[in-house]
Amino acid sequence: MQDCIFCKIARKEIPAQIIFEDEQILAFRDIDPKAPQHILLIPKEHIATINDLVTEQSHLVGRMTLTAAQLAKQLGFANQGYRLVMNCNEHGGQTVFHIHLHLLAGRHLLWPPG
Ligand code: AMP
Repeated sequence: MQDCIFCKIARKEIPAQIIFEDEQILAFRDIDPKAPQHILLIPKEHIATINDLVTEQSHLVGRMTLTAAQLAKQLGFANQGYRLVMNCNEHGGQTVFHIHLHLLAGRHLLWPPG
């Protein structure tokens, strides 16, 4: 997708603090962190929302989740805990229409979310 900001990050056309990459997944630091640790995990393939996921792409969500857990261990906050969030469309608070998993940690996160 030409105009998608996360596709541009995946293609290295705009900078990001990338902390993990493989053939299918990219993880980078959120530009406007909502917690001391705020990392976004995306599939390199453009998928606009969770509503657009098809069965053949379900492994990507599994890879994103497993990668988040690995990063939590590597960065030292797995035992203390963290939150994984995927927002969908207007009521979910989605602002970038390329699916992404938020990995949030480093403070006691409130529940329920606002
Ligand atoms: P959401 O509101 O769930 O769609 O989350 C989008 C997230 O992307 C927000 O937390 C933004 O701060 C983050 N974001 C937007 N642009 C960039 C960027 N260029 N680099 C890193 N994070 C970004």
